[in-house]
Amino acid sequence: MLITSCTVHDLRFPTSLQLDGSDAMNPDPDYSAAYLRLHTPDPALVGHGFVFTIGRGNDVQAAAVNHVAQRLVGRAVDDVCGNPAALNRELLWDSQLRWLGPDKGVMHMAVGAVMNAVWDLRARSEGLPLWAVLDAFTPSEVVDLVDWTYLTDFMNPAQGREILEEQVAGRPQRRATLSVDGLAAYTTSPGWLGYDDDKLVRLSREAVDQGFRLIKLKVGVDVADDRRRLGIARSTVGADIELAVDANQRWTVNEAIENVKRLAEFDLRWVEEPTHPDDVVGHSRIRREIAPTPVATGEHLANPVMAKQLFQMQAIDILQIDATRVAGVHDLLAMMLLAAGADVSVIPHAGGVGLCEAVQHFGFFNAIAIAADPAPLAIEYVDHLHEHMADPVVVDNGVYQLPGVSGASTAFNDEAITRFAYPSGTEWSS
Ligand SMILES: [Mg+2]
Repeated sequence: MLITSCTVHDLRFPTSLQLDGSDAMNPDPDYSAAYLRLHTPDPALVGHGFVFTIGRGNDVQAAAVNHVAQRLVGRAVDDVCGNPAALNRELLWDSQLRWLGPDKGVMHMAVGAVMNAVWDLRARSEGLPLWAVLDAFTPSEVVDLVDWTYLTDFMNPAQGREILEEQVAGRPQRRATLSVDGLAAYTTSPGWLGYDDDKLVRLSREAVDQGFRLIKLKVGVDVADDRRRLGIARSTVGADIELAVDANQRWTVNEAIENVKRLAEFDLRWVEEPTHPDDVVGHSRIRREIAPTPVATGEHLANPVMAKQLFQMQAIDILQIDATRVAGVHDLLAMMLLAAGADVSVIPHAGGVGLCEAVQHFGFFNAIAIAADPAPLAIEYVDHLHEHMADPVVVDNGVYQLPGVSGASTAFNDEAITRFAYPSGTEWSS
């Protein structure tokens, strides 16, 4: 069976109308997806992948996804899905395309959409959810999925295998526990910067009623106002609910240190993206100077090499992997193994559109097979746009339920294409 064609859609959802998703760096995002489908002669067997963006430029991302995906047309499904590590290497090490990175930005994320679509296709053909496909691999097989080229000064394949082997005996118990209890979700829904105080109070109360134990607020424009909003949130939810803040890269290193000290009285679970995501040395200094407040980042982390450097510099406490920021499954496995080696918790970034669906598989696989201690783990959750996904996440009483549907949960509904394709969809043309 061959991959017969691919289709790519520029999907944009007009979230800026309600200021959903508004933060200090991104005041008016229209959550978007450059959405890829790999087709086979079997209409029931399609591989789905996407890159999340926030509006303008989604057409550029879609063109890049199409450029990479065209290489798969005419190839055998068994070849592509049977040896994804070879395909991953082929796409990332293309000697001419590599000039456009390497391993960062539009082309790297395009490879991510393609690789995630390939893994979705494989999982569907096996009739398993993606996390279960990964869970069926031995430690050696997982290690062989990672491109270790630039990582071995921090972790070599044998060390990666050791981390996985330590959890092998406990995997069935962890799987069983997660299938009953789920994995904690935390919510960002109440804390968007564009929401007024009444909405912050109302949504914070609702979040607690819905079972969430951690709420994240956007900060970064005006620290006096951040203090005021954190005070409102703390008095609304009480001392038992954890609060985290997210500056979305708005601060300089010096500002981050100064401002986090002014917010520390709220006993923050973490400060997220305090400064530029590439500033490894800056994160390291911030972490030292704001201790014991933990530092988190990852949603804009371009590749495993960046993650490695953050760990080598002891610059972060929490790694927030994102399902579509990097080159897909293989990069994400690398980053989770490196995090385990650095004793850093993985608390995936989600929200956007489709990101909760896509990243949950990695959050669960990490909790089953990689992390030394699954107790502090969680996945971000934002309660919107799930109706556009074919297999939406199930979050009950503040926890993600273990996905049971086959695939990588990366498919959009057909109706989303009809309505939200840009600019021809009915929502945009009207
Ligand atoms: Mg964030």
